[in-house]
Order: sequence, then C-alpha cells, then structure tokens
Amino acid sequence: MGDAGYDGGCFCGGVRYRITAAPQSSFVCHCVSCRRAAGAQSVAWLTVSSGDFSFVFGEPVEYRSSPGVTRTFCGGCGTSLTYRHDEDPDSVDVTTASLDRTDEFPPEYHVWMEDKVGWESVEDGLPRFQRGSSAD
Ligand SMILES: [Zn+2]
Ligand SMILES: [Zn+2]
Repeated sequence: MGDAGYDGGCFCGGVRYRITAAPQSSFVCHCVSCRRAAGAQSVAWLTVSSGDFSFVFGEPVEYRSSPGVTRTFCGGCGTSLTYRHDEDPDSVDVTTASLDRTDEFPPEYHVWMEDKVGWESVEDGLPRFQRGSSAD
C-alpha cells in the first residue's frame, strides 16, 4: 500500500475511514433527511465506489433513516459519516466535511433544492437540481 488515499473520520477520533480513489462526484444535498440526520441545513457528500471505501478504525453506528437507506455516524460524538442505499450497493456517499482535508473535493452541484431552508443562500453558481441529480 502506498500513501494514495483520502483519510477522514469523526470529531472524537473513535471512527476513521479511508478512501483509496478519487470520488465519482461531490455535491451538496438540501433534503430533509440529511438535514435531520446531521443537524445542519445542508450536507456535502462525496460519492465513492464501495470498493474504494473502508472503515479502518472503530465501528460506526448504523441508522435506517428511510426504507433502503442506511446512514452511519459515530456513537461517541455523533458525526455523520456515510449514506448507503440498498438499491445501489456499488457506491457509498461519505460526508465531505469529515475528510481530514475538507477542501480536497469541492462540491460540483446541489440536489434537493426544493427542500432547501429559506435562509440558506446558495449563490456559488453551481448547477442545481430540484430533486436528485439527473442520474436519479
Ligand atoms: Zn466520534
Ligand atoms: Zn440528502
């Protein structure tokens, strides 16, 4: 193993993960589920091939946030870490802000704009989708 990889983890250090290839996409989600799960108005995500992602230290807690959806977070400090959908086992979404180098993969577009909270200003000029991206 070389040092090619993108490391991240939770606030307390109890859970650590490694991404071994560049993400497929980087986006910000404004949906209600992400808002509630993270306690934040929107959540930035990286979509990674399942084979390129692994937890390398600690065990996150799993939470079924809606049918088919499993989110993970640290049971010690609560940091939101991943999102998986049963219908898409080949990829996992990882919270961009849990990366050690958070600036590595800036968002490329916004999804679920129809759920966006009124006071959050999105003026970065990136593409916006009312619901999921065109892939959905
Ligand atoms: Zn933690
Ligand atoms: Zn969302």
